[in-house]
Amino acid sequence: MVTADQLDLTMDFDSLKKAGTGLGSAGMIVVDDATCMVAKTLHFSNFFKNESCGQCPPCRMGTNNLAILMTKIESGQGTQKDLDSMLQLCGFVKGTGYCTLVTGASVLVQSSLKLFRHEYEDHIRLQRCPYQDTPAGIVTHS
Ligand code: SF4
Repeated sequence: MVTADQLDLTMDFDSLKKAGTGLGSAGMIVVDDATCMVAKTLHFSNFFKNESCGQCPPCRMGTNNLAILMTKIESGQGTQKDLDSMLQLCGFVKGTGYCTLVTGASVLVQSSLKLFRHEYEDHIRLQRCPYQDTPAGIVTHS
């Protein structure tokens, strides 16, 4: 993930790697500031869980557990400990698969938590998604 202040990044492998992200398969999704990044990350965590072929235990269990923890946080049931658990899990499973799917699932969550941690903490503090029932993304972060 990258933020609005990185929009002038050059789209090549080296430039994006230097900026702490990656080109992946060169697909790009742009979201506005009314988007809940926890919900968006959950969406992709579910994608990785569903796409795991299950051959490698760290991927099978890791993608499933990441999706469970993301669901818990997005629904307002999460705790600070869950954030630590997610980062720990990402560290355990990253780079352990036969293919890069589980690494992608981990990097996604790590990047989201690094750039949008305040949104995760808002979900935990308010015990709900702060983007629900608010006009066009007007959210006050503490
Ligand atoms: S890392 Fe790749 S090969 Fe291994 S279980 Fe995940 S999707 Fe399958």
